[in-house]
Amino acid sequence: MKVIHLHIAVHHREPNPNPIRDALQSLPGSGSVQVTIETDAGVNGSGEVGFGRIGGAPDVLAALIEQELKPLVLYTDPAYVRATHTAMVQETEYHGTFGLATFGIAAIDTALWDCLGKALEVPCWQLWGGAQTRIPAYAMVGWLNYSIGHLQEICEQAVSQGFRGVKIKVGSPTLRKDIGRIKAVRAVIGDDIDLMVDANQSLTTAEAIRRGRAFQDLNCTWWEEPIAADDVDGYATLVQALDIPIATGENLYTRMDFARFLRRDAVDIIQPDLRRAGGPTAMLQIGTLADAFRRTYASHGGGPVQLNVMACLPNAVYLETGLLGPDSPFKLEDGCVPIPQGPGFAWS
Ligand SMILES: [Mg+2]
Repeated sequence: MKVIHLHIAVHHREPNPNPIRDALQSLPGSGSVQVTIETDAGVNGSGEVGFGRIGGAPDVLAALIEQELKPLVLYTDPAYVRATHTAMVQETEYHGTFGLATFGIAAIDTALWDCLGKALEVPCWQLWGGAQTRIPAYAMVGWLNYSIGHLQEICEQAVSQGFRGVKIKVGSPTLRKDIGRIKAVRAVIGDDIDLMVDANQSLTTAEAIRRGRAFQDLNCTWWEEPIAADDVDGYATLVQALDIPIATGENLYTRMDFARFLRRDAVDIIQPDLRRAGGPTAMLQIGTLADAFRRTYASHGGGPVQLNVMACLPNAVYLETGLLGPDSPFKLEDGCVPIPQGPGFAWS
């Protein structure tokens, strides 16, 4: 089987006039780039990466894929997906295998695995070997621009849908304000639902320790991205200073960043992002590496690619997703999402 075409589709999205917001930035949305790989066997695979902001980013990424990555993929055999992944990492090294380079690698890597699964008519987790049949799920619903009333309403809705946990944004101007939001949510979800807090890199290490002590006293489940994502020294300090587990990883790039954090004992729960990690090939490596360090894996975002990866990791503990809508491709079973059974990354 050989790749004979690689199609790039840029999907632009009108920015949301009322964007969601975390402690770092507003996220009006700006579209996505979808890669479709066509083979001489008549089997196709696709991979898509989205952008929460930066209007021009999808067009810039499309150019990077067209000019730098596509030539490395054409006429290769999708069965050698890991070789192609290595070639793409090497090719982008000159300007840095970070940022848009890993977004492009992720889209192509996803498309190649999808293609391979479809050619063999099995889900990708079966290609890799399964470890779990379903993954507990929590709902990321508590954006920082929501009023207390709306925050309570949406968290209550998540619990009524069967989620085992909810996550809210913190990093308000004052700790007192953060505590008020956490207490308001706890009042409506009860004591048995997990409550995660996420500051999106907004604090100093000293402030993250001060707030982390308050959050652990409020029985929060984990303390996510309290400080700048690249501050490995700061994260190592937080892991030492606090009892609450420290979660990070959605803004780390490639397995090398994760290796640095794991070696320094600077993270308790890793959260690789499909786009920044560099696709399923990298996410599997990162998850396995964390398992060797006895650290757990929670997804950043929830979709069929994340679920297929987590199905193969014994240390995968929690899937992040939003509220279930009428078109949701899965139903929760006992607070868990069943692993997709469709070929490649198809849901069914
Ligand atoms: Mg986060």
